Amino acid sequence: DASILRPKTKGNERLLGGLLVEGFDQKSCHSRYQSAVYRRNPGRKPSQYLVSKLRSQEALQRRCGPGTAAYTNALEQLKSGKSLASPECRYLVSISYRGLGNRIIAAASEFLYALLTDRVFLVDPNTSMDELFCEPFPNTSWLVPPGFPLGYRAFYLSTTERYGKMREDGVLRTDQMNGSAASGDLPAYAYIHLDYNQTEHDKLFFCDDDQRLLSNIQWLLIRSDSYIAPGLFFVEAFQKELDMLFPERDEVFHHLGRYLFHPTNGVWGLITRYHDAHFAWAQRVVGIQVRVFPWRSESPEILKQIKTCTQSERLLPAVLGEEEEEPVAKTTASPSGAKPTAVLITSLKAWYHDKMKGMYWERATANGEVVVFGQPSHEEIQRYGVKSHEHKAWAEMYLLSMADTLVTTGESTFGYVAHGLAGMRPWVLDMGMINSTVGWPCSRDMSMEPCFHIAPTQDCKRREDAGKIVPHVRHCKDRPTGLKLV
Ligand code: GDP
Repeated sequence: DASILRPKTKGNERLLGGLLVEGFDQKSCHSRYQSAVYRRNPGRKPSQYLVSKLRSQEALQRRCGPGTAAYTNALEQLKSGKSLASPECRYLVSISYRGLGNRIIAAASEFLYALLTDRVFLVDPNTSMDELFCEPFPNTSWLVPPGFPLGYRAFYLSTTERYGKMREDGVLRTDQMNGSAASGDLPAYAYIHLDYNQTEHDKLFFCDDDQRLLSNIQWLLIRSDSYIAPGLFFVEAFQKELDMLFPERDEVFHHLGRYLFHPTNGVWGLITRYHDAHFAWAQRVVGIQVRVFPWRSESPEILKQIKTCTQSERLLPAVLGEEEEEPVAKTTASPSGAKPTAVLITSLKAWYHDKMKGMYWERATANGEVVVFGQPSHEEIQRYGVKSHEHKAWAEMYLLSMADTLVTTGESTFGYVAHGLAGMRPWVLDMGMINSTVGWPCSRDMSMEPCFHIAPTQDCKRREDAGKIVPHVRHCKDRPTGLKLV
């Protein structure tokens, strides 16, 4: 038990300032109450309003979640095909797909939507969601139980109940709720399609009138691999609530991510063993995420970029040239600086780590600081759905989030999860992950929030540039068409 070996945290710190509740079985999920002990940076405090909202959401999940009479009734209603005028409980089902970083940021932002609309939040257990994360809500489950009546995993553009399609075909109209039309005319469910190929009609999801209509549909099933939270800030009906939940807009993922995603015990073992071996003794920890695609060959340009970024931003000490004299006297004379700096590199490839490690072993640093490199794994290829691969990916995102300083790769959702959980603005390497042009070596991100990649381009009413409407939603630096909370 790590709490015996480590200094105890106070109750409030252990529960992340009230974000988490007591009452879970500790053995079933060690990470939930131990994470605060391992983090070098305690992170931000949630608002009291967010804390109380989460407690009411937990009560809602218990009252309406799988296994309750309300859930059985809601399933019956779903099978009937019609929405009730005022159902006891309403639901949002998150369909998980794509890489782990995508799944995490999508689920966190969909959970925000559930909070704002008082819907029970359920996730598709497919894609290892049940394997990687502990249950976030006490005494109930967030996983869609087996036997769900809709084959939602196949839902895509051609699905008849796609919200954008129903809007386009006039099957659903935003004036439908005004006047005499009752919600009995509305379908029992709608499929919200927010993938990269979404249509103009799918994008209406972020408009006030459409949200009013959607609030009368009992079941919503959503497919997105993006961080949709910035888009929710455009809905006027949500703005007051969002202000109260997040007085500081740049901490939405930070809190919701820390609330929802607790590594299961197997993953926690990967994290704590690496931590104890590589971080525990270090003066400081620098995390560097080098997101490269498996099919790309090793790039000396990217290596140079990592070196230039970390050294010119003074995240790592400079190394001396071969001819220069080593500052031996300096290191021995200054025992206070004796503890090394640990660098965690995560990447699918080993090459970048090996080169950096070699450089800091073969050459002395200008200030005498000793820098020790480590890389937990190099999986070489992306293997979605393979248990051990997903476990490592989650462990590495989490380990990055425990560092004191972070360098991440632009456009990578893997990196977004790391700096969001950490509560840190990273230095971002512009490696042209999606685009092939490389601009600058790195620069400090404007906030710790993930970027919403496939974001609306205009607002619903005035048709103005979506990055210029609300002061705290801006275009992302790493993906200029995307949007980000700042
Ligand atoms: P993104 O593609 O960078 O936005 O991040 P995702 O997490 O959505 O998808 C990339 C997937 O590739 C990850 O989920 C992992 O399965 C794998 N992957 C990429 N980089 C790493 C890495 O540094 N370490 C590990 N273990 N897996 C990685």
